[in-house]
Amino acid sequence: MIRKVLIANRGEIAVRIIAACREAGLATVAIHSEADREALHVRLADESVCIGPPYAKESYLNITSIIAAAEITGADAVHPGYGFLSENAQFAEVVQECGLTWIGPPPGAIRLMGDKATARRTVAARGVPVLPGSPEPLQTREQAVELAHSIGFPVILKASAGGGGKGMRVAHDARELRHAFDTARHEAERAFGVPDVYLEKYLTQPRHIEIQVIADRFGKVVALGERECSIQRRHQKLIEEAPSPVITPELRKAMGDAAAAAAKAVGYESAGTVEFLFQDGQFYFMEMNTRIQVEHPVTELVTGVDLVLEQLRVAQGERLSVTRTPKLSGHAMEFRINAEDPETFAPSPGTVSFLALPGGPGVRLDTHLYRGYRIPPYYDSLIAKLIVYGSDRQEVLRRARRALSMFVVEGIKTTIPLHLKILEDGDFKAGNLSTRFMDRFLSSR
Ligand code: ADP
Repeated sequence: MIRKVLIANRGEIAVRIIAACREAGLATVAIHSEADREALHVRLADESVCIGPPYAKESYLNITSIIAAAEITGADAVHPGYGFLSENAQFAEVVQECGLTWIGPPPGAIRLMGDKATARRTVAARGVPVLPGSPEPLQTREQAVELAHSIGFPVILKASAGGGGKGMRVAHDARELRHAFDTARHEAERAFGVPDVYLEKYLTQPRHIEIQVIADRFGKVVALGERECSIQRRHQKLIEEAPSPVITPELRKAMGDAAAAAAKAVGYESAGTVEFLFQDGQFYFMEMNTRIQVEHPVTELVTGVDLVLEQLRVAQGERLSVTRTPKLSGHAMEFRINAEDPETFAPSPGTVSFLALPGGPGVRLDTHLYRGYRIPPYYDSLIAKLIVYGSDRQEVLRRARRALSMFVVEGIKTTIPLHLKILEDGDFKAGNLSTRFMDRFLSSR
């Protein structure tokens, strides 16, 4: 049995995990960098350990220090959150080798899904639809050009080891592709240490729709419905919602079955997300994220399942509390609030001098903000997730306007004004979404 959980993360997700542990009656250990001494997760955890200097490489990514912190405090389990070491199979292995419980999927599943070309091949072999493309990484430019001619332009090159939107390049013709091939390989090598790239058909107006899954050690995999995450800027999600305005019960079932098949193909356990592109009524596997995701709360609100509590159950060898896909009830939408200039998106770290948090019917706020908190410049700019719930999409839109307009943060710039503008957009209100939405929205400002 787990008694004490070390949370290998910071910010709102560290606070979210502490909340689940407290509910489950488990003690918590926060780790933090020198820049995060005053962070909320440090204050809320039962114990805390400083693990190094501000730069993540020397603290939140420092495996040796994190394991030492677990040993010093007698923690018996590690929750990695998202980002940082959450999809690092080696970290998961080290945690397990040290006799600690890893609150996440098996290292082998992380490794396999972490190589996108291999992931694509593996799930395709189980009948999960993928876009036409290269099964193996491409060796030469000419190989890429030949394949692109056979599947038709436009195509997208992606880093096999990729993530966070890095190492992706779209090409509309052979000339562009030759050029993109070298840049994508170079970018992949620099960002991930591996130059491998593969190619697939590029969809011009797709929706990003993903399926949340949860799996236990007994081979049970349950799909928990979809989240639509088409509102993105530079491949980074800004707004997510569940259910998707375009997914019918039949499609939900088909996508859920495909996602479960993908999870089973790698012996998955814990919470994970299978991402699909959706266009003209068809869905195609993109990748699997082998961790809890930023946008997990929207699924929690429409299914009633606490995903972090489920992760804790699975890690302790218990069975899932849900045995089949629940009927989705109501509608939920998450707005990612970043400490950024809402016009230029330049980061805006600094001290929060005044703070009024929204509440009231249908509002959940996952945040690590407090008045007087000094947002350090070293990490991700996400400072709060406003999640709004209602009986249908229209009610959610009304509640979102109310909650965003009553969310006051002073001392720094935030993306709250951007979200309020998106809420006024005709296409957004009508649910006419695609991953190109923000390009259109920003160019028409
Ligand atoms: P990452 O792991 O770097 O986030 P993904 O493979 O998840 O990369 O893709 C991120 C985003 O890139 C998607 O949400 C989508 O907007 C866009 N994208 C990826 N592949 C395609 C494709 N074949 N056609 C069109 N857009 C794509």
